[in-house]
Amino acid sequence: MGDLLTVENLTISFRTDEGLITPVQDVSFSVQKGRTLGLVGESGSGKSVSTKAVMRLLPGSAVIAPDTRMHYTAKDGQRVEVEKLDPRSRAIRRLRGGEIGMIFQEPMASFSPVYTIGNQMIEAIRLHREPNKRQAREIAIAMLERVGLSDPATRIDQYPHEMSGGMRQRAMIALALSAGPALLIADEPTTALDVTIQAQVLDLMRELQRDLGMGMIFITHDLGVIAQIAQDVAVMYLGTIVERGPTAEVIRDPKHPYTQGLLAAIPSLDRLNARMTPVPGDIPSPTERPTGCPFHTRCVHAIAGLCSARTPREIAPEPGRAVRCWLHDEAGRSAA
Ligand code: SF4
Repeated sequence: MGDLLTVENLTISFRTDEGLITPVQDVSFSVQKGRTLGLVGESGSGKSVSTKAVMRLLPGSAVIAPDTRMHYTAKDGQRVEVEKLDPRSRAIRRLRGGEIGMIFQEPMASFSPVYTIGNQMIEAIRLHREPNKRQAREIAIAMLERVGLSDPATRIDQYPHEMSGGMRQRAMIALALSAGPALLIADEPTTALDVTIQAQVLDLMRELQRDLGMGMIFITHDLGVIAQIAQDVAVMYLGTIVERGPTAEVIRDPKHPYTQGLLAAIPSLDRLNARMTPVPGDIPSPTERPTGCPFHTRCVHAIAGLCSARTPREIAPEPGRAVRCWLHDEAGRSAA
């Protein structure tokens, strides 16, 4: 499996009246063809901002650091250096939708309320795949059927507000997939849904990702959801990836105290009678990022004199795993 997207040293700052704030620092990850990477962390951890940078959808006040590298391998095998693209260029418009699709927590962020679902899907299909309008409509109907909407030939002519929340979510997935992307970025797509619909949409996304052989980045604050959908996981805290690796291994043996805290907060059958133990304290604001390890203000294992003063580097405690924590960096501790 080749890398579809590789992000290296992504650092994003925003110009504000109070000066420059940097909500994402030195983030590196990769997504492989046919696999799902889960990006997990509390709100404010920088998950959405990082993926918006990949889509070049950041506002004008954003500054991407010059040593950031974002490489995407297009469907025709061409290597695209995303960080060098002009956000208004034709190349980035081709990339958005046709190569990389995106779905959000709120479907109305994708749909315009004044056009039918079909109009919007047909436009996306004609832009990226099939210029013939009749053919494009057939592809759209087939896609609505594929995501489990009953009577798709009628639904296609409905407006977004005529559908229930769960149906709209399915229609948004169909819209994102209608241009045939090789990579799908799903930003908290199930968070606003009730538990039953959430499970159905997760099943659907897992099935589509497998059947279409897409790569996927699935953003959530819920490590339990990641366990169900993602083969690989990257745990973010205050704009930094603190741990990454294959999901099954990270869940079996979490190395970072923050990952351990997130896992302890998941209710599970054998913990039904136990009290859930959420990570104590609140995530600090990016304008008040602590010195040293960003997690030291909440970490029960913090090493006095070291964690609050020195930022841990990313090390590989085992092949395929990565963690940023002094507890696992004996060589770094001795040198500090
Ligand atoms: Fe805790 Fe220190 Fe590890 Fe940070 S580096 S997670 S403060 S032990």
